[in-house]
Amino acid sequence: MAEVRREQRHQVVVIGSGFGGLFGTKALKRADVDVTVIARTSHHLFQPLLYQVATGILSEGEVAPSTREVLAGQKNARVLFGEVIGIDLDSRTVTSQVLGRQTVTPYDSLIVAAGSSQSYFGNDRFAEFAPGMKSIDDALELRGRIFGAFELAELGATRGDNVDHLLTFVVVGAGPTGVEMAGQIAELAHRTLKRDFRAINTKHVRILLVDAAGQVLPPFGATLGAKTKVDLERLGVEVMLGAMVTDVDERGIEVAYKDGRVERIAALTKIWAAGVQASPLTKTLSEQTGAPLDRAGRIAVNPDLTLPGYPEVFVVGDMIDLDHLPGVAQVAIQGGKYAAKEIQRRLAGKPPQQPFHYFDKGSLATISRFRAVALIGKLRLTGFIAWLIWLVVHLTYLTGFKNRFTALLHWAISFIGRGRSERAATEQQIFGRTALSRLEHGTMDLVSGPNGHDGFAESIDAMVAERRAELEAQALDEIRLTDSGERGQPVR
Ligand SMILES: Cc1cc2nc3c(=O)[nH]c(=O)nc-3n(C[C@H](O)[C@H](O)[C@H](O)COP(=O)(O)OP(=O)(O)OC[C@H]3O[C@@H](n4cnc5c(N)ncnc54)[C@H](O)[C@@H]3O)c2cc1C
Repeated sequence: MAEVRREQRHQVVVIGSGFGGLFGTKALKRADVDVTVIARTSHHLFQPLLYQVATGILSEGEVAPSTREVLAGQKNARVLFGEVIGIDLDSRTVTSQVLGRQTVTPYDSLIVAAGSSQSYFGNDRFAEFAPGMKSIDDALELRGRIFGAFELAELGATRGDNVDHLLTFVVVGAGPTGVEMAGQIAELAHRTLKRDFRAINTKHVRILLVDAAGQVLPPFGATLGAKTKVDLERLGVEVMLGAMVTDVDERGIEVAYKDGRVERIAALTKIWAAGVQASPLTKTLSEQTGAPLDRAGRIAVNPDLTLPGYPEVFVVGDMIDLDHLPGVAQVAIQGGKYAAKEIQRRLAGKPPQQPFHYFDKGSLATISRFRAVALIGKLRLTGFIAWLIWLVVHLTYLTGFKNRFTALLHWAISFIGRGRSERAATEQQIFGRTALSRLEHGTMDLVSGPNGHDGFAESIDAMVAERRAELEAQALDEIRLTDSGERGQPVR
């Protein structure tokens, strides 16, 4: 384990490179501090556009720029790749790990912005059959599954098989992510792919949006929810409300209605867009401070986003339970900036800020190209105007000019034209993660330990020597054939 070394300058450690972590770090650009961002991915992720990666509109690079590149110009910030496995509030250290290699990083101030993950409400086995939408891996796996389902259907239909289950897509969860996903699959089937297949008619695809709640988009209120439902149905999406998912397997999904009816729907492709669970790091923070966790694992924080008894520790974004704040990007961004400002004020000897106050800039969700819903203060907008606002907001918050430019280009290709630039999917995207999860220690089983090759060194060296000899002999043979003019001569 790396040794803990205390530095002279005030050390800020930021856990997470998502919205809270990145914006908090950037807000410390001019501060007299050193910032260490520790994150388990090397990219910042713009989660609101993941559904576009999954449906072939955007590339993963456009929504996930390298954190290192984003922070390259910020001299006081460095990036440390690793999964945080421990936070010791008394010794003020954070322990992170990559493939068995552990690092301990000391801090004077800590911003915890580790976000949340998908929640299957205790049915984690559903994850294998109904991937969520929280990471690039999720989006690429879903892309593979969605486009793969059309390929399998074409193959089956060519042989004369019934392919209805292959052309049935179920999206679980009628929040913004579920609505956007269902709308995009409908556009994909009814518009983008309609000329690409011969044996199947993609216009006959079934898209089901299933939710246990009684309405679509509950946070947007009853009026916008009802309008969105009508819009989705016009697009060909079957909206099934009051339908609770009780089972998921590789062949389909089972739902139970309020009246006790149970229905099984045969569907190859299922997408889970229901429910989130705060990062498990809240558990260790709760154990050390006594701060309670809510049902989604979010931790109760002080009004200034600090932990009880530890004013140097801020928790922001999806991990916090404060004033019923929603799990949205702006809560994380504003929380990260607030924490950064408080750290600077303390160093300057200034009095504390007012308690954290979330400024709600509004909510947006797209339904299809040129159609969205927007709730901004008391204003409720639908249709093209809402979509234009969606476009401007997403362009503003996408990180980096390069990404904004290429995203705009891809949107023009998909929304004005009918193309999708990112339809490539590989077998590894679909099955790689399932294979990894079946290894006892995950990726650790595939690499050498931190102290070398752990006994494999000799066999690896022997393999390298054998391969080298083979390649050298091959090269000599090539030279001989060229120099002797034997190429193209009959072999006797
Ligand atoms: C599909 C989808 C669509 C969404 N759409 C919208 C939308 O339209 N509008 C909106 O406002 N919000 C939307 N949200 C919600 C929004 O993305 C989140 O509220 C926001 O990302 C929360 O920011 P955060 O900083 O708390 O966490 P995140 O942005 O999730 O960042 C968490 C970071 O912590 C890292 N991390 C996690 N655990 C560890 C660990 N143990 N060690 C090290 N690093 C760790 C992660 O790798 C990541 O870098 C959407 C979310 C999803 C999933």
